[in-house]
Order: sequence, then structure tokens, then C-alpha cells
Amino acid sequence: MKDVVIIGGGPAGLTAAIYAARAGMKVLVLEKMSYGGQVSLTAEVENYPGFKSIPGMEFSGNLYEHALAQNAEVAFEDVRQLKPRGEKKKIITAGKTYEAATIIAASGAARKKLECPGEAEYIGKGVSFCATCDAAFFRDKTVAIVGGGNTALGDALFLSNSSKKVYLIHRRNTFRAHLAVQRAVLKRKNIEILYNTTVESIAGGQFVEGCKIRTPQGTKDLPVDGIFVAIGMKPETELLKGLVKLDRYGYVLTDERCATAIPGLYVAGDIRKKPLRQIVTAAADGAVAAVAASEYVTIRQERLKFIHHLE
Ligand SMILES: Cc1cc2nc3c(=O)[nH]c(=O)nc-3n(C[C@H](O)[C@H](O)[C@H](O)COP(=O)(O)OP(=O)(O)OC[C@H]3O[C@@H](n4cnc5c(N)ncnc54)[C@H](O)[C@@H]3O)c2cc1C
Repeated sequence: MKDVVIIGGGPAGLTAAIYAARAGMKVLVLEKMSYGGQVSLTAEVENYPGFKSIPGMEFSGNLYEHALAQNAEVAFEDVRQLKPRGEKKKIITAGKTYEAATIIAASGAARKKLECPGEAEYIGKGVSFCATCDAAFFRDKTVAIVGGGNTALGDALFLSNSSKKVYLIHRRNTFRAHLAVQRAVLKRKNIEILYNTTVESIAGGQFVEGCKIRTPQGTKDLPVDGIFVAIGMKPETELLKGLVKLDRYGYVLTDERCATAIPGLYVAGDIRKKPLRQIVTAAADGAVAAVAASEYVTIRQERLKFIHHLE
């Protein structure tokens, strides 16, 4: 039995692993994809204190190595179900069931999808969720970016530096992005904004060749080489539904120690309701949750010792 099983090997999960292992706990991190989480999708991290600029992959590798160096165990498995009540909590993956005294859920968030025909088929073949990662594939080409927030407009600016033409497709007639970003977008000659427009489907041959859009004037084909989707994030809270309180967007409500109403179940990082979702806040949550979990384990051990003594 582990002292703590951590779900997710992003900045929150790996920081929790470092702190928990240093507190003397037996730690297992379960990660369904690759370590680093969303950071591995980031070309360059320029706002983590102590690093003026570091490639996302390098930062992710550092976090992973650091957790291993503290003797945290990491296994690449998809967690399918949690049974978090009671003394022995169960964490069920595709092939195994683990037991732990505490659980830290740090499963993060993922980009929302358009859910239109062709999108899933062309992921990696012209459909992208990360402009900073994939802009280089569309040098001197025509791309569309879908969304109206800071990410979409920031991505449009970034893509317009290297792509020939950028369509910014937005379903409303006003943007949610900061005014300064909006002004910068309006000044770019190679960005064309399509307001009140949605993407109906994506099509092509081996790679994307265009999309069908619905405009106030009707539907039409828009030839593009790539489509970047930036319509928001969705928290990875499927495992926790029905167990803990979620806000209306699906983010988990915790107290300031990252604790939920279930004793020994903690939540850290982007899946928590909080005002800023960044690496630095994910790492901070991981540290706080690990310390809280370690205190829980110590109190539990003392209680067990006391019961044993009475027997
Ligand atoms: C393109 C992009 C650029 C960004 N740039 C920056 C930046 O420059 N600076 C900055 O501070 N922030 C940046 N961010 C935000 C930052 O990456 C996130 O805030 C941070 O990664 C959140 O960390 P996390 O550990 O909470 O979640 P995540 O990074 O999302 O990690 C969660 C991990 O949990 C795993 N997981 C999910 N479900 C399961 C399951 N059932 N079983 C096992 N594993 C599971 C996932 O595979 C993932 O690896 C960026 C995000 C993106 C998408």
C-alpha cells in the first residue's frame, strides 16, 4: 500500500511527488500519457520564476527527473476509477488496482474540441490545439484559428508572423480577449476576422485542405492548410464526478489546503477552481496538497498505533 497515489504527471502531480517523497512518503504517480502534462505542449516557458526561458519539453524532463531523484515511483497508466472513501483508498487503472492512504488528483485540463466532422480524423494532419508547437509546419501557408479569447487572438498573432494568411473565426461579434491584444490583431494585414462564423466540418485528403463554415450569409467552403482550435479548456474531472463538489464549469472546489470533503482526497493544479491556471500555481498546489496529505498520513499512523496499543 502506498502513502499517496498521485493522478497526473504534470507540474502539479510531479511537484506533489517531490514534496511527498521528501516528507518520507511512499509515492506513486500514475500518468496516462507523457510526463509534463500541458507543459510538454509549450514551445518555450518564459514566466516560471528562476528560468528566463526554457523549452517546455526540457522543463517537463527536469520535473520528471527531479521526482525520480527523490525516489517517487512513476507508472504510465490511465486511471479509470477511484474509490476514495475509507482507510484504504482504491485507484483502478486499465490493468491494476492500487491501494493508498491518500490520493492527490492532479489530472489537469485539456483543450476543448469543436466536435465537428473531420476534426478527430485530422488531428496531427492539419488540425492542431497548440499554435506554439505547430506554427512551424504552416510557414507561408493559409491557416484558420477558431476562438475569441486571449489564447485564440494571441495564437493568431503568433501564426501571422510565419503563415501567409490567418483567418480568425469567431462565433460572436465581439472578442473576450484583452483590448491590447485585440488592437494588435486588428493592425495585422494578414489576419482576416470572420465574425459570427462557426466551423461546420473539416475536410481534405491525407492532410487538411479546408473547412465548411457557417456565416450569417450561409455556408461556404474555406480553403486552408491548417486549423487551430482555441475555444477554451475542459477540466479532466470525469474520475471525480459524483464524489466531490464541482463548479458549473466542472472545476473542483477545495479548501486552501487543496482538501476535498472526502478525508485523504486532495486536488491540485488546473482541475481546481482558482483564479490563475499556470505552471507556478499548479506547482504551488502540488506542494500544498502533498504537505496536507503527509500530515493526514502521520495522524492516521498515530491513530492506528493508539488503537493497536488499546488492543
Ligand atoms: C499550449 C500551452 C502553453 C502554455 N504555456 C504556459 C506558460 O508559458 N507558462 C505557464 O505558466 N503556463 C502555461 N500553460 C499552462 C500550464 O501548462 C498549466 O497551467 C499547467 O500545466 C497545469 O498543470 P497541471 O499539473 O495541473 O495539469 P496538466 O499539465 O494538464 O497535467 C495533468 C496530467 O494528468 C494526466 N492525466 C489526466 N487524466 C489522467 C488519468 N485519468 N490517469 C492518469 N493521468 C491522467 C494528463 O495526461 C497530464 O499529463 C500553457 C498551457 C498550454 C496548453
